[in-house]
Amino acid sequence: MAIDKTLINKAQAILDAARNVVILTHMSPDGDAMGSALGMKHALCMSPAKQVSVVVPNGFPDFLAWMPGADEIIIYEKDAAKANELLEEADTIICTDFNEPKRIGALGQKMLDMVSAKGDAVNVMMIDHHLMMPERTLQDAANIVKIVEAASPSASQLVYEVVSAGSEIKSLDAATCIYTGMMTDTGNFAFNSNHPELYEIVAKLVAAGVDKDAVYNHIFNAWSEGRMRLVGYCLDRKMRIFPERHASLIALSGKELYRFNFKSGDAEGIVNMPLSIKEVNYSCLMREDKVTEAEKAFANGSKKKIKISMRSQGDRPVNMFCHDIFNGGGHKNASGGEYYGPLEEAVKLFLDNYEKYFLAD
Ligand code: 5GP
Ligand code: MN
Repeated sequence: MAIDKTLINKAQAILDAARNVVILTHMSPDGDAMGSALGMKHALCMSPAKQVSVVVPNGFPDFLAWMPGADEIIIYEKDAAKANELLEEADTIICTDFNEPKRIGALGQKMLDMVSAKGDAVNVMMIDHHLMMPERTLQDAANIVKIVEAASPSASQLVYEVVSAGSEIKSLDAATCIYTGMMTDTGNFAFNSNHPELYEIVAKLVAAGVDKDAVYNHIFNAWSEGRMRLVGYCLDRKMRIFPERHASLIALSGKELYRFNFKSGDAEGIVNMPLSIKEVNYSCLMREDKVTEAEKAFANGSKKKIKISMRSQGDRPVNMFCHDIFNGGGHKNASGGEYYGPLEEAVKLFLDNYEKYFLAD
């Protein structure tokens, strides 16, 4: 699973030459998005000659706000002018934890415009672990390097492999961010985690000073009361089970979320919970959200956006279901998508199609 050596060399040549760097990561950043982007930033900032900024399409959840460097992140939805200025000055753009420009909303179009206007004056590096669909990603070119390894448990691990390339990591902030991404994208090493090299990296990060117990507390023991009660409500009142396909569905309206004082990130992890039922192999969580300014271009006039999250056990892929039905994608066992329109329509699409895609055993 190691990254091809020529790719690593090419990536390192780009990083060595980089002076003005913008790092981008995906919409609704999770621990791995933040970990890979900030980990890369801190590693690059060891060299004082480099100016490095992280730009995200929209806000990140409170439980990630403690991450070193989070307070300096530029949020495109809030400060597009600053983000555009940084992109215009950039000689290097690094995309972490996504490979489709669509995954960063309006910022994606801005990036594409910039890359085509600048030509060879900008290098683009993609570091990601999602299945790459050729029609949805950047076209190959001499100034574009794609390190996209769908078998890797996290983008943060790939960042580690690129920036360390065998030597020790010198920035504790980089190590902490990378560890956070590795931990969150494997559910605290509970899935996608049967890779010995993962633990070799964790050992090096802890040796470099990462306080893994503190990271755990920041991520898992910082819930609001509303979030805890929302989980109870979902499991008791909202979870539907479809025994013939061992599937579960939780669909949450905006009104329901409002009752629980919902904040970005509060639904994190709920989709995994039904899989703890012995008979459940597929789990889907839908939640209604408002269409943001950045998403209007994709919304076909709808004011409502339904965010779909899917999880599965074992050899039961959910990424093609998300790709075909909800214009999304992701990994075999963890995928997502979206639907612009009422929640009931998204639920109907699920009900009309799940039997075709889900296995009966
Ligand atoms: P989550 O359910 O945690 O939001 O996402 C699970 C996985 O599916 C993540 O790896 C994420 O990148 C991917 N994913 C989520 N939403 C989308 C989407 O709208 N489009 C694509 N292509 N992938 C998604
Ligand atoms: Mn990831």
